[in-house]
Amino acid sequence: MKISVVGTGYVGLVTGACFAEAGIHVSCVDIDKEKIEGLKNGKLPIWEPGLQAIVERNSKNGRLSFTTDIKSTLNDCEVVFSAVGTPPDEDGSADLRYVLQVAKEVGQNMQNYLVFVTKSTVPIGTAKKVKQVISEELKKRGLEIEFDVASNPEFLKEGSAVDDFMKPDRIVVGIESEHAEKIMKRLYKPFLLNGHPVIFMDIPSAEMTKYAANSMLATKISFINDIANLCEIVGADVTNVRRGIGSDKRIGYHFIYAGTGYGGSCFPKDVKALIKTADNEGYSLDILKAVEAVNDRQKSVMVKKIRKYFNDELKGKKIAMWGLAFKPNTDDMREAPSIVIARQLKELGAEIYAYDPVAVDEAKERIGGLINYTNDKNEALVDADALLLVTEWTEFRVLNYKVISKLLKNKVIFDARNIYDPIELKENGFEYFGIGR
Ligand code: NAD
Repeated sequence: MKISVVGTGYVGLVTGACFAEAGIHVSCVDIDKEKIEGLKNGKLPIWEPGLQAIVERNSKNGRLSFTTDIKSTLNDCEVVFSAVGTPPDEDGSADLRYVLQVAKEVGQNMQNYLVFVTKSTVPIGTAKKVKQVISEELKKRGLEIEFDVASNPEFLKEGSAVDDFMKPDRIVVGIESEHAEKIMKRLYKPFLLNGHPVIFMDIPSAEMTKYAANSMLATKISFINDIANLCEIVGADVTNVRRGIGSDKRIGYHFIYAGTGYGGSCFPKDVKALIKTADNEGYSLDILKAVEAVNDRQKSVMVKKIRKYFNDELKGKKIAMWGLAFKPNTDDMREAPSIVIARQLKELGAEIYAYDPVAVDEAKERIGGLINYTNDKNEALVDADALLLVTEWTEFRVLNYKVISKLLKNKVIFDARNIYDPIELKENGFEYFGIGR
């Protein structure tokens, strides 16, 4: 089986590499020449556990190749995945420019029947537009080649993307023909040996499923953050509340950790896009509007605590920041809360010395000289007035009290992920500020 994955970013590269690992011949296409050149030489544009080895192995055995030329990949190609970005437009709606461009190029170059599968997160109705664009291009060429469109939203999580792809909880596919269903079933069969299903449905429902899933998860995060803020006011501890409610199977423990709000490349833009879709239809998604507002407010909660602690005198204060990526196990800095926090602290006159195990290069690209970068977590602490934990990487979980007591000028810890034990810190002579406790 031969497929083409267009857009070799986070989703496209993981998708392409994992399909190749399962024995499928995959061409990964991107317009970014530098990215493709790098990949041809084994240099990955993202850091993701397990991915490097899969890319290397399958490039070597010839099942995975990289190109900027979409045309060269379409001969005998059975499925084209579009995994290009769908960034927010100025008004918050998803910008479909890249997806429709891929559809256009496929229409201009396809030689045989294929299924055009949208893997990017796209608003309801996109498959229809894609179909129209491909049909128009074929008409211009005077050709009548059959094709199908399908929607196959991706649910992988950055940080465990390979595992999620290889052992998915479920695969959602929106289709409108039996032929396309057959092809998609065959394609995904190697990943479903654990018994988890491909859920086939109509295309609009598949498109909606992705937005509904991300919106639900964002809602859980904003809900617990709202509860956390109230916990502080009334003298409760949100980590206990989480344990108390999470034990209810209907609620569950996942995604109810209080923190600095959601970030990353998906939740912020997808929540915005769904709100916009509803607004355009004359319906107001009030819950999601509140989810967004709570999330925006949450990014400043830790900065407020730091301001209060230092009586608003942050000028010249040195803050050690542990963690920059929007979550552990990724170098993704898109919409990372660390950026908002760093900007606010810097505006107040503080100097930030930050360490992250893998996201420093990405951070340099996005925020450059806004902060100082250190080579290890202890270097960031030297003479710092406070330690602020932003991303809960495993290496930050256990504190070496002897070492940090020596390095920090002032024994205070702001824990934006509630990973430390306030009582243990107190016993070791530290002041502690978490979220909602
Ligand atoms: P990304 O920005 O990492 O990658 C997109 C890639 O597409 C870039 O390399 C870009 O150069 C390329 N591209 C743009 N136009 C092109 C064209 N005409 N031809 C070929 N390549 C082109 O984006 P991503 O994070 O992989 O996200 C892709 C889509 O998947 C988005 O819709 C996103 O919402 C969705 N998604 C992302 C995640 C995630 O965790 N990152 C998870 C699920 C779904």
